[in-house]
Amino acid sequence: MKKLIQGIVEFRKKLTKENKIKFAELTIGQEPDALFIACSDSRVVPNLFASTDPGDLFVLRNIGNLVPPASPSPHDTSAPAALEFSILSLNISNIIVCGHSECGAMKALAQGVDTLPTELKSWLKYGEESVNKVRKGLSINTSLPEYDQISQVNVLEQMKHIASYPFIQERIEKKQLRIHGWWFDISKADVYCYESSQNQFVLIDEKEANLILERLG
Ligand SMILES: [Zn+2]
Repeated sequence: MKKLIQGIVEFRKKLTKENKIKFAELTIGQEPDALFIACSDSRVVPNLFASTDPGDLFVLRNIGNLVPPASPSPHDTSAPAALEFSILSLNISNIIVCGHSECGAMKALAQGVDTLPTELKSWLKYGEESVNKVRKGLSINTSLPEYDQISQVNVLEQMKHIASYPFIQERIEKKQLRIHGWWFDISKADVYCYESSQNQFVLIDEKEANLILERLG
């Protein structure tokens, strides 16, 4: 907590005139162009690795970057509510699901959730299919530890869950919305993008970034 509190004082000291203007402008409203869905893990730092500014990203974070599918109607509606608000009210045109290496949720799924506390066990069921797929041999990168293989497959599973909501399907069909799958490797601080044509997570370097931007048009 000490670092957190001192950080607020530091922030006030270092706040530039430009940043003050930026925050003042943001009181009018927000127009983020992406919904960023990431794990709550403290080592995953989207604003840092994507060099984003205040107002750029609408962020949903939870354990395991999970989104319950539309059916059966989910017990936890926090993630679906974030989808509804960002898509229907903010008109966001890109959703990014970002998994990460060394994810505690994926390690728990790999080990089995039976001994976990009730709510945690209940929440992690949205990642169970990812474990099943990896164990059926549907891994994306078999050179990774099993929990990281689960984490990568889990990104694709959550993309499917998101696309199961009719208002999202409709926008995808009209090409008003895209869902992207990213993966953050903590040890290298590298971010990868899932390329369906290669069935691989590809490092987002300048070349890959240009490819992604070209596709966005
Ligand atoms: Zn995690």
